[in-house]
Amino acid sequence: MTGSASGIGAAIRDRLVADGHRVIGVDRVDAEIVADLSTRDGRAAAVAGVLRASAGKLAGLVTCAGLAGLPDRPGSLLVSVNYFGTVDVIEGLRDPLAASGGSVVAISSNSTTCQPGFSLELVDACLAGDELAAGALADQADSVMTYPATKTAIARWIRRRCTAPEWIGAGIRLNALAPGLVETPLAAEQRNDPTIGPLVAMFPLPMGRGGTPPEIADAAAFLLNNAFCVGTLLLIDGGTEALLRADAWPTLWEL
Ligand code: NAD
Repeated sequence: MTGSASGIGAAIRDRLVADGHRVIGVDRVDAEIVADLSTRDGRAAAVAGVLRASAGKLAGLVTCAGLAGLPDRPGSLLVSVNYFGTVDVIEGLRDPLAASGGSVVAISSNSTTCQPGFSLELVDACLAGDELAAGALADQADSVMTYPATKTAIARWIRRRCTAPEWIGAGIRLNALAPGLVETPLAAEQRNDPTIGPLVAMFPLPMGRGGTPPEIADAAAFLLNNAFCVGTLLLIDGGTEALLRADAWPTLWEL
């Protein structure tokens, strides 16, 4: 798993270890494999390290590494870590996942549907796979608006690939979580920012609180284990999305 050192990733790690699994963590610090997923070389090193440590067989992969959008953080960094740091690692580990019918849980976000006004052009630029072009586009706006674009691109990458011969055809299930506000160092970073903090405080939380990392870890364990989930985007947000957009799902299919 990536992002194993903190927040949601650390809780997923604890949960998987408690369930009897061996976890190979990738992070910038405090991990079996220390790698910087913001660079192509760092991602290649992470994949090579996992291949070595797993001896070519992986039962699961959870990609948690991610950064929040903040006014002084470049959008291109979010494109590189959140999107390419997710999809390049998943693609790089396809073979060991296929070797044991493994499953993947990526981390999207309910910002995909609860934060209006982000650029679908940026989503498409990520999905087109040109990191430099997507980064340049992201740097034209505030990274607060880049964040939901990277998370939408992750959701669409998972949904587009999950049914393909290389993935479910090879026995690999691709799914993603879409958490709402979860109390982690990432959320604290946003709360403490003088510009973003007041906006986060306005985010509606029907339960009266944000989620806890173990609650998200429970959902991750479910998606990793459930044999029939393919292309599932599991919203886990304490009701925020239902409050804001009760009738948005299901969207009827009109032919
Ligand atoms: P966190 O900051 O506690 O953990 C993120 C982890 O990613 C850290 O361990 C960090 O070191 C690692 N990371 C960041 N940049 C990296 C890089 N360049 N290379 C390697 N590792 C790197 O945050 P969190 O809240 O636990 O977030 C985990 C995931 O959940 C992220 O993808 C985040 O976008 C997503 N998410 C969080 C929330 C929330 O409210 N906390 C909501 C929805 C989605």
